[in-house]
Amino acid sequence: MAAEHDRRDEASGGPPGTSQASPSGAAPAAGNPRVAGDAEPGPEAFAESFGADDINAMRIALELAAQAEAAGEVPVGAVVLDGAGKVIGKGFNCTISGHDPTGHAEIVALRQAAQALGNYRLPEASLFVTLEPCAMCVGAILHARLARVVYGAADPKTGACHSVLNVPAIAQLNHQTRVEGGLLAQECGEMLRSFFRERRARIRQLKQDDA
Ligand code: ZN
Repeated sequence: MAAEHDRRDEASGGPPGTSQASPSGAAPAAGNPRVAGDAEPGPEAFAESFGADDINAMRIALELAAQAEAAGEVPVGAVVLDGAGKVIGKGFNCTISGHDPTGHAEIVALRQAAQALGNYRLPEASLFVTLEPCAMCVGAILHARLARVVYGAADPKTGACHSVLNVPAIAQLNHQTRVEGGLLAQECGEMLRSFFRERRARIRQLKQDDA
């Protein structure tokens, strides 16, 4: 998903070009994740290890992303499951409507999950999100001591799980969360791409109308 750098901001629709390349699984191993070497598998490599429960969870995140889009927000959705696989938190982007730079889907879902459990630590929980988490969200994920994170599309603009930064790979961190990417990446990325495509078209139209 690239594309759009301000995945969550309103600002620029993001440059259509380059970054767009790798939203989904299509993305070559380019931004290879957890490691620096070429031999390392990209997030797409994990795709085959996902089970039906993982896919179901990501489908919920996709539905939440659609809700964000319907609300005029950049379509990113996230869901948190407890250790038994029960949904305990849901969220979608609300940065624009909430005038809140921290209103990312992951943060919203984590807050709800922590409230549900009455604990800011969620050591058995997992989070599924349609777009690779940014540095802020990875920070929150680590503070919450999540067991596992699965994301859909890579984010070559602000992704902090391999694309731009690889925070989870930093060995000095006191908590390690397992991070896997590429689940339903094509679908997750396409939702973002079409959102920004339409937004750019709208802006162009407005400019023409003004002219
Ligand atoms: Zn974020």
